[in-house]
Amino acid sequence: MVGGGNPPSPGEISLSHHGVLFLDELPEFNRRTLEVMRQPLEDRVVTISRALRSTTFPADFMLVAALNPCPCGYRTDPRRSCHCAPPVIEKYMGKVSGPLLDRIDIHIEVPAVAFSELQSGAPGTSSSEMREQVMRARMIQAKRFEGKSTRVNSQLNTRQLREVCVLGTTERNMLRDAVNDNGLSARAHDKILRLARTIADLDDAANIKAEHIHEAINYRILDRDIWK
Ligand SMILES: [Zn+2]
Repeated sequence: MVGGGNPPSPGEISLSHHGVLFLDELPEFNRRTLEVMRQPLEDRVVTISRALRSTTFPADFMLVAALNPCPCGYRTDPRRSCHCAPPVIEKYMGKVSGPLLDRIDIHIEVPAVAFSELQSGAPGTSSSEMREQVMRARMIQAKRFEGKSTRVNSQLNTRQLREVCVLGTTERNMLRDAVNDNGLSARAHDKILRLARTIADLDDAANIKAEHIHEAINYRILDRDIWK
């Protein structure tokens, strides 16, 4: 996954540089393999050290991963019953470490789609509309970071966060309660802020509003106790 061998050759994370690395059934991967991805996810590069020399490969990839809520997959499905015992669920979810989840910006639940909805064909946002929205948000960020090495909100460091993500009292209290109630880490706190800034950009809003913070908090579903 991260590369290796002698002489060192790049792994999947470097082959996905400036692209997407999709890992389906995340808990099925070897836990150690997943853990070594933590550093490259932060640094955007991976260094493979050998006795005589070390080699650094680029690894600026977008990680997309999928996992079931339990081994049978029906734990959160209202139409089916899950017979997985709590220790089995715990062991399954435990294969993905907290520190790795902490480094993932967005956690969302994708419920099974009911037959009626499959048939209804109700139109959602089309891909072209979504593309336009994303392009607009990118333009806002290009303007915000003009002349700086930061290109997008996800690259904001802690100091920049304080300048760019100024919150009102309501928003600050919402974030404080979410951090306290769910025992969120400092990293998760910063991720919520960056994400709220992006949601506000998608909304073409100059300031981060309560609804943006609320949405960003809801994208930390795996940090909550019910999922552990
Ligand atoms: Zn189950």
